Amino acid sequence: MNEQQSISAEPTSRFALHWQILIGMTVGAAIGLLLNLSLSTTAVTISEAIPEHLSTVELRDSTNTITITTFTHDNVKTVYEIGGKLDTKYADLQSFKADQPSLHAVFESHGQSWARLIGNLCKRLGGLFLRMLQMVAVPLIVTSLTVGVMGLGKAERLGRMFRRTMLYYICTSFLAIVTGLIMVNLIQPGVGTGLNSQSPVAYATASSSLSEILLGQLETLIPTNPIRSLAEGDFLSIISFTIAFAIFALMIGGKTATTISNFAQAGFDVMMKMTMAIIALAPLGVMLLMLFVTATHGSAVFSSLAWYMLAVFLALVVHACITLPLILKFVAGRNPWEFAKAMSPALLTAFSSASSNGTLPLTMASIEQRAGVRNQTSSFVLPLGATINMDGTALYEVIAVLFIAQLIGIDLTLADQLVVALTALLASIGAAGIPHAGLVMMVIVLQAVDLPVEKQGLIIAVDRILDMCRTSVNVWSDSCGCAVIDALDDD
Ligand code: ASP
Repeated sequence: MNEQQSISAEPTSRFALHWQILIGMTVGAAIGLLLNLSLSTTAVTISEAIPEHLSTVELRDSTNTITITTFTHDNVKTVYEIGGKLDTKYADLQSFKADQPSLHAVFESHGQSWARLIGNLCKRLGGLFLRMLQMVAVPLIVTSLTVGVMGLGKAERLGRMFRRTMLYYICTSFLAIVTGLIMVNLIQPGVGTGLNSQSPVAYATASSSLSEILLGQLETLIPTNPIRSLAEGDFLSIISFTIAFAIFALMIGGKTATTISNFAQAGFDVMMKMTMAIIALAPLGVMLLMLFVTATHGSAVFSSLAWYMLAVFLALVVHACITLPLILKFVAGRNPWEFAKAMSPALLTAFSSASSNGTLPLTMASIEQRAGVRNQTSSFVLPLGATINMDGTALYEVIAVLFIAQLIGIDLTLADQLVVALTALLASIGAAGIPHAGLVMMVIVLQAVDLPVEKQGLIIAVDRILDMCRTSVNVWSDSCGCAVIDALDDD
């Protein structure tokens, strides 16, 4: 990796990058909140460009509740409420869109407040930053992993690294789950809330069973068409094919191995340089994404879910600020604070984007260029971690499912809680590193202990905020794992 340090493109400016990103984040949040407080309410009545069977549609937007009232030609009135209360039928616009696409379109074109319009525009613009990261992700993984595996020199070294990595993933996910279990049993966020109302419309949920998902993951390890996997950005397939390719190149050795190695190294240098240039845009990207979240999210529903959010938040804090730093300090021998500072571009981007896959290029660039971890380790541990190691998600699944059980007054026995813990671990392995993936996978955990799947709709309204927090913890755990494996690999 030392060769790489010379190509670092990190801008030299008066403020360190992590400060710039923090400032971007704060400014975005402040502007978003101002918009939310001042320009988030509108009311319009329209009678043109609406579905034929209706005579009038009244649209009322506020970040807390959207009310859409329709009148038919015979004056039959129907009211749709979106968000605001936990017992509302639609927790958010996405679930409303799934149920009432034409009315959703009417709302989108005529009923949005300025705060929502500006927020959504910022989401699109911030999305450009995420698209840049997605653009570099696949070539970066392929070239970096090829360089990394060929640098290891021997398949046995890779095998040893694989075993250690898996051990780290399982141990930390287990510790995260235990933290979640303790927190949810201590705080008992769902007890005594008196919420036994109708269930909101839930997201389209993962329909397959747990075994299906795990078998699916296994199958993905053997892509039938590697080119298609590359085109579709299927990380697991890409990782396994690239490793196989590099190992066989090593086995052939001689000129073939040298050519491939040189080619991969050249590609990797270019991709890393590109990623470092994109890092410079992180303060702006993070600002836009934060502005979107704060401008468009109402706070009404937060109060009813405050204890639940607190339980998730505290458990994440314990895992991220106590458990992982202890491992980092005593196993990897690193100063957790310095390491967190080096990783901050990735951690803060993970927070604002809620996507560990999207953040991956920044995680790879930060760990190599800022934290000094060898490419041989990071090229392997990080892409795999972004796909299967999700401590934050596992912890969140446990708390959310036990919260739902408490909410509807079902007392889960210790054995049930163990089933929840195990399925949460597997669900976190199966979850993709994209926004809301944990929520979608939760259905598997709910089914495992016979809880009503639709009740999951109750927690959709606050999922984005929790997703941001758990994604940062997912990326933090991958990064700490990388430092640990790097320290243990003394060759
Ligand atoms: N958004 C998370 C991630 O990308 C996954 C989740 O929804 O828990 O890591």
